[in-house]
Amino acid sequence: MTKHEKIQRQTRAGTDLGGMFPRAFADEFVTIVHGDGPWVWDADENRYLDAISGNQNVNIGHGREEVAKAAKEQLERLEYTSSMLFANEPAMEYTEKIAEFTPDGFEKTWLVSSGSEANESAIKMARQYHYERGNQGKYKVISRRRSYHGNTAGAMAVSGFPARKTKMEPLFANFPKAPSATPYRCERCDADGGHACGVECANAVERLIQDEGPETVSAFITEPVTGAANAGAYPHDGYFERIREICDEYDVLFIVDEVMAGFGRTGENFAIEHWNVTPDIITGAKGMSGGYSPIGGTMPHRRIAEVFEGVEDGFQHGHTFCFNPASAAIGTAVLEYMDDHDLVDNARKVGAHLHDRCEEFYEYDFVGDVRGKGLMIGVEFVGDRETKEPLPETGSEFQSLLFEAGLDNGIVTYPGGGHVDGQYGDHVLITPPLTIDDELADEVANRMHATFADVGSALGR
Ligand code: PMP
Repeated sequence: MTKHEKIQRQTRAGTDLGGMFPRAFADEFVTIVHGDGPWVWDADENRYLDAISGNQNVNIGHGREEVAKAAKEQLERLEYTSSMLFANEPAMEYTEKIAEFTPDGFEKTWLVSSGSEANESAIKMARQYHYERGNQGKYKVISRRRSYHGNTAGAMAVSGFPARKTKMEPLFANFPKAPSATPYRCERCDADGGHACGVECANAVERLIQDEGPETVSAFITEPVTGAANAGAYPHDGYFERIREICDEYDVLFIVDEVMAGFGRTGENFAIEHWNVTPDIITGAKGMSGGYSPIGGTMPHRRIAEVFEGVEDGFQHGHTFCFNPASAAIGTAVLEYMDDHDLVDNARKVGAHLHDRCEEFYEYDFVGDVRGKGLMIGVEFVGDRETKEPLPETGSEFQSLLFEAGLDNGIVTYPGGGHVDGQYGDHVLITPPLTIDDELADEVANRMHATFADVGSALGR
C-alpha cells in the first residue's frame, strides 16, 4: 500500500462530502491541518513540500505570525463596516500599499473577495467607462482561446477553458475568442522558428474587433503569463505591444488578469512589466492576500479612474464584503512581509535557478515543453514529442496519477490542461512560495523528478 493509499484510508471516515466540495484529483480527501513556510502537514502528520503555494496564493509561505497578529488586532478593533455607507482605515491603508506595487499611473484599487470577482468588476468597469463616455453599445469582451479568468458566470464567459465550462454552456454571453498565442502550439508559427504568435496573433485580435464591429467591443482581457489554462505559457515578444496599439486604435480597454501572476510571482511586481506595455485595468487576487484572507482587486489606470470621478454614484458596483477591514489589514501585513523580505527579487533569482533545474525534465520522453517566468513554471506533457500529440491517458486519468505520485513523494503539485480538440497536452504548474531559496528549489526539482519517474513507470514508459 502506498503512503497515499494509507492516507486515503485514514481520512475517509471524516470526509464524505460527496459532490458538494471542490475535490480535484484524489479519490478521497487528504486533510491538510497545518503549515509552516513552504511545508504543509496532513491529519496523519505526513509532511509535503507545497510546490503550488496553496493554490498559487500562499506566496509568503504558511503560518506567518506577523499576519496573524495584524488579523487579531483588526478583528478586535473593527471586523466589518459597510463600504457602501462608510470608509474604513485599513482598506485605505491597504489600497495605498497596493499602489506601491502597481506600475506608475495605477493608484486605486476596487477591493473584492476573489479573482473571479476582480475580473467581473473589471468587465463591468470597462462597460461603465464606455457608457459614461457615451458609447453604450460597447459591451463585448474578447479574450484568448486558452485562458482562465474565473468561475462566476461573467468571468467564465470570457474564459477559454473547456474542462471548467462545458457543463455550464450555453453561458449568459458567448464572447469571441482570439488565438491563444502560445509559442509551443501556435497555429501560425512556421517550422523554421518564425514567431507568428507575436504580432500576427495580436493582429488576429484586430480582425476580430473589426468583424464584431468596434462599436460593440468594450475590452480585451488576457493573462500575460497564463496559469491554470496553459501553465506558464506566454506569447512571443511583440504581442502585447501590438495589442496595446490595437486597443488604442479601437477604443477597447486592455485588461490584464494578474490574479495568478501578479504581486511578484513572475519576478516582476506584475507580469505585464516583463514587456514595456501599460494596460488600462489590472486585476489581482491570490498573492495579494497571500492566501490569508479571500481578497481580490481591480486596479484601473488613472485615465480610467478619472472618468468615474465625475459620475455621481461612481462605479455602479459593490458586494457586502468589498473593502473588508479585516481582510485589508491582513493584505497590508502580507505586502509588508513581501517588502521586508524582498520577495519579488527573490522570485526572479530563485526562479531562474529552478527553471534551469526544470529543464532537466526533458529527460522524460513525455515532457514536451518547460516554460514560465520567475516562480511560475509550467511543464506540458505529450504522448509524442515530434507530433506533440497529448498522452493517450490525457485528462483526469493522467492528472490524478501525477497528483497522487506527487503526494507519495512528499510534494503537492497542480496538474491541469488535458486534450482539447487534439491541440493541447496536460500540464503541471510549479509555483512554490516566493520565500524559497536555491536549496529548497533543488528540493522541489528533486521531488518532481521522483514524481515524474513514478509517473513514467506507471505509464509503462
Ligand atoms: N484568473 C486567473 C488568472 C486565475 O488563475 C484564477 C484562479 N485560478 C482566477 C482568475 C479566478 O480566481 P478565484 O479562484 O479567486 O475566483
